[in-house]
Amino acid sequence: MEVPSVAVSDTPAPSPADLEFQKLLEAVQKLRPSEDTAPLVKAYEFAKRLHEGQFRKSGEPYLMHPIAVCETLADAQMDMVCLCTGMLHDVVEDTPTQIEEIAKEFGPEVARCVDGVTKLSKVDFYSVEQRQAESVRKMLLAMVTDIRVILVKFADRLHNMRTLYALSPEKQKRIATETIEIYAPLAHRLGMGKIRAELEDLAFRYVDPEASEELIREIESKRAANEQYLAEVVRVVEAGLRREQIPARVQSRVKRAYSVYLKLKRQKIGIDQVYDLLAVRIITDSVKHCYAALGVIHNEWHPIPGRIKDFIAIPRPNLYQSLHTSVIGPGGLNVEIQIRTEEMHRIAEEGIAAHWKYKEGRSGAGGAEEQRIAWLRSLVEWQRDMRDSSEFMSTLKIDLYPEEVYTFTPQGKVIVLPRDATPIDFAYEVHSNVGNECVGAKVNGRIVPLKYQLKNGDVVEILRQNGHLPSKDWLAVVKTSKARNKIKHVINTTERAKAIEIGEKYLEREARRLGASLSRFGKAELEAVANEYGFTKMEDLHAALGYGKYSARQVLLKLNPELERSEPQQEPPAPKPHQQSSQAGASDDLTIKVSGADDLLLYRAKCCNPIRGDAIVGFVTRGKGIAVHSVNCTNVTNLMYEPERRIEVEWARAAQESFAVKMMIYTDDRPGMLSNVTTVLYDENANIKTLEARPDPTRQDDSAVIDTTIEVKDKKQLDRILSAVRRISGVRDVERAS
Ligand code: MN
Repeated sequence: MEVPSVAVSDTPAPSPADLEFQKLLEAVQKLRPSEDTAPLVKAYEFAKRLHEGQFRKSGEPYLMHPIAVCETLADAQMDMVCLCTGMLHDVVEDTPTQIEEIAKEFGPEVARCVDGVTKLSKVDFYSVEQRQAESVRKMLLAMVTDIRVILVKFADRLHNMRTLYALSPEKQKRIATETIEIYAPLAHRLGMGKIRAELEDLAFRYVDPEASEELIREIESKRAANEQYLAEVVRVVEAGLRREQIPARVQSRVKRAYSVYLKLKRQKIGIDQVYDLLAVRIITDSVKHCYAALGVIHNEWHPIPGRIKDFIAIPRPNLYQSLHTSVIGPGGLNVEIQIRTEEMHRIAEEGIAAHWKYKEGRSGAGGAEEQRIAWLRSLVEWQRDMRDSSEFMSTLKIDLYPEEVYTFTPQGKVIVLPRDATPIDFAYEVHSNVGNECVGAKVNGRIVPLKYQLKNGDVVEILRQNGHLPSKDWLAVVKTSKARNKIKHVINTTERAKAIEIGEKYLEREARRLGASLSRFGKAELEAVANEYGFTKMEDLHAALGYGKYSARQVLLKLNPELERSEPQQEPPAPKPHQQSSQAGASDDLTIKVSGADDLLLYRAKCCNPIRGDAIVGFVTRGKGIAVHSVNCTNVTNLMYEPERRIEVEWARAAQESFAVKMMIYTDDRPGMLSNVTTVLYDENANIKTLEARPDPTRQDDSAVIDTTIEVKDKKQLDRILSAVRRISGVRDVERAS
């Protein structure tokens, strides 16, 4: 990059941008005389060098844009940090400049603000789903940690709207819609009436060109007549007020096209029926004089019934106060009249720091959110009033929505979650199936761990795997009760299904042992026994058996007391049902099987951990499957005598053996990686037990790790799988974990 030529004497003649900047400097010096403007000059030279050769769609040099933004900010008497941010707001987005360079040159505060503006411009608020405008506005505010960021954003948007004519019709519509749905209402809430009005009027033309053209034509065609008419009304009002000795100033206006448009749409009426197309405003010195002025008006003209509103006694939630009335004015035309004090007027127009005055006593300022908005609005005002850049602003951190975090689906739907929520919460918020099948997540295009804490504006993509089920560990991570309940539900359902299966087999096995067959008993007989235990369905009894609540022998004796006599001789001592963690994975252990039935849920007991060749015995546990012990295990010999829980087990044939192997696959973080890996694993007949993608903790770059546990028959199959995975493009390494 060229060395900038800063010295004015080097440049032959000032460019149009230089001239415009000179005007800006003079304005700043006039409005904030004690401010040192050197940083702004430096910011200008910096932006000038970086935007060199760039042009706006309107054909203007790009530099004219940040200057125009600064002009709006200077007009609002913003401080030097804010002005420098305005000048530099596009350099990170549109030039190769890094935020670190801004920090070095202009200090951390300007850097933080420029970073804030850059982040906002990366979120595409337009693509957000319809009817979510309120969430988006909240999200926008939630993303802002310094009030100056949003002020720069407003100034930026204002200039973009003023030059919108230069863009394609498609972009015009898009930007205008976003302006009218997101930015104008925000400006309104922050009490920035002037900016809001200009944003709306500029946007209206693009959002609904036909209606706006018609309305503007209609309003304009009558403008001269209307203004003349209003002058007459004002004259009469002023005379009446003087007569009653009410000190006041009187304003009049023809309503703006966009607000008339909204009214027509909302009330489904014609333009003739808009009462406040012509409006007069009386601003006086006290509440007493407000009511006195209302008397003067009603004495002069006839009030329209139902149109008198007392917002002084009952202020609006945004603290707006005024008396409103509509009268039938001279010549039978409707005129709306608003009456308020100077202070009420300032609140209505500029959003003055009303919050503090109303905080005590009055309940006008709604909930916590309204209060924080009011507080924000007061900051805008302070900022404007403060002539010197203040320490106060520099230490200020805004957190408007401390309880919430606003995130997006890739399709642009806003998902509002509690603070510190994780991608798992996000997935369950989208749909319970998405939650259950969640095996990984990408935030802003990069893989993150499932326990990642989501931040405002994050775009979250959930990686899913068909048939995947939530893990118990998730319960420790999730923040929403929705996710927690769904996870618990799935775990309970799965465990119950296991218990039913175990209970059923257990009953059949016990019957066989007693020389009976369950098929001998009819459905009614079985259900009668289930009823004795307080269940309506046999399934519930099976589950209870599986959970270890009753013994199968007991149940069978209830079915047929005769069976007792046929019972085989003495049983060996049996252990109590095992209260062991099931995480070892019940059915993982296919190296063992139950004699005669191979679909029971088995696990090797941890106390003795029998290996192939050991004499083994199985015991039905409370809902955890069947624990397989070595017959020599002290638990087997010393524990409870419950023969009915015993189940014969045997080592399965070697051909059916399979081993669980944990692998770590190091990959590039890019789309399709996960599915390429699973495809290869399936092709190699590996049974995938678990699969989770996360970023590679040992590296800073775009790399990810896929943790997976698969089942393989033998080493040969494993080697084949490892080399197949290594061949996948984007896979950097595969490791077999111990
Ligand atoms: Mn810009």
